[in-house]
Amino acid sequence: MSYDFAIIGAGAAGTLLAIELVNRPSLSNKKILIVDREGGDYRDRTWCFWAESGHSLDFLVKHKYTHIAVSDQNEKPYASIHPYTYNRIEGADFHDHYRPILKNHRQIDFVQDEVEHIESNKDWAHIHLSSGGSKSAKICFDSRFSYDRLAGSRYPVLQQHFIGLEIETNQEVFDASKADFMDFSVPQKGNTRFMYVLPTSATRALFEYTLFSHQPLKDSEYDEAIHEYLTLKEISDYKVISREKGSIPMSSYPLWRPLSSRVLPIGLNGGWAKPSTGFAFNRSLQRVKQIADLVEKNPERLPKLKFKDRFWLYDLLLLDLLDRKNGAGSRLFVRLFEKRQPQLILQFLDEKTHFLQELSIMSANRPIPFIKAFFRWLFKGF
Ligand SMILES: Cc1cc2nc3c(=O)[nH]c(=O)nc-3n(C[C@H](O)[C@H](O)[C@H](O)COP(=O)(O)OP(=O)(O)OC[C@H]3O[C@@H](n4cnc5c(N)ncnc54)[C@H](O)[C@@H]3O)c2cc1C
Repeated sequence: MSYDFAIIGAGAAGTLLAIELVNRPSLSNKKILIVDREGGDYRDRTWCFWAESGHSLDFLVKHKYTHIAVSDQNEKPYASIHPYTYNRIEGADFHDHYRPILKNHRQIDFVQDEVEHIESNKDWAHIHLSSGGSKSAKICFDSRFSYDRLAGSRYPVLQQHFIGLEIETNQEVFDASKADFMDFSVPQKGNTRFMYVLPTSATRALFEYTLFSHQPLKDSEYDEAIHEYLTLKEISDYKVISREKGSIPMSSYPLWRPLSSRVLPIGLNGGWAKPSTGFAFNRSLQRVKQIADLVEKNPERLPKLKFKDRFWLYDLLLLDLLDRKNGAGSRLFVRLFEKRQPQLILQFLDEKTHFLQELSIMSANRPIPFIKAFFRWLFKGF
């Protein structure tokens, strides 16, 4: 059997893309193959994003934060982010909602298998499965990411890597309206390290020890850092409810480029995570809409999504700095949030600001290192 579209991986990107495609009436005669290797659902993570009210996934949001802090002080300067809220979706809720839709949809064949490799010619992608056999599709969207794709990159490659522990305390210690976006009061040890704290009630919170650096740590180092942090906060009577772990690529390498004439990378594999922050979830919603718009116009042609724009350049300059001086992140982010309104920064991270606003963002920090980075890349070639 051959398909119009194949989606490899039913994680965040693959699921959102499949839903977007089947929701387009003009594509209602298209057949879609989804291949995912996971036996169960992919439930090991929470996704957060900021948005104004009326977001299309509001029905899945379990918790909303109205205030955030980015600081290296013990007393946190929480700031309102109105009209945004910072929204938290549980991976389990996401998959519980969407998996049955994908599995029962008349346009979709959902296959649980491992993709070994994909071969393409001018007209078809042939998807080879580990159970033997293959399937063919005119257009294939591939969300299998591996750092191998970044090997030999001429652009800096860092990782946002972390382990998060969801804990429950016996006493009421948290304010569930406030999120610690980046708490840089943790020892930096020559890197950019912070604690990300998301309480969901007075007794429950996720503590995520996060680095923007070149290499992951041993698992025990993240766990120890979280326990030390809790001790400093005089939180000793708690139990660990769950754990999440991740590594998100941070690079300006053009991951978005097609993998062949018939295969487009999507999700982390397509560079959908913002290189300077690792936020990918809300961007995935925008990207799947762009893809669906393009395939509606021409379902035979591989859609092409992105190019090097000025936001790509800003990300490159920041990563260039963190690549050379990995400990510089704490001062950069703290100064930015001290000097500029969080709403403006969030709008900038959404790539929805105009040039004068961007100058204001950039002038919050000393411009010289960014200017030097700019000229370095100008001479090397972008
Ligand atoms: C723990 C964690 C927390 C995160 N939190 C946030 C957040 O709060 N906000 C945010 O914006 N971003 C967040 N991210 C980043 C990003 O949003 C997620 O990584 C997101 O899941 C990326 O979606 P994806 O579809 O690219 O990858 P995934 O969701 O990982 O999906 C990839 C899918 O491909 C399947 N697959 C892989 N290899 C094969 C194969 N060979 N054959 C068949 N199937 C295969 C896997 O089973 C999986 O289902 C987080 C990431 C992690 C890891």
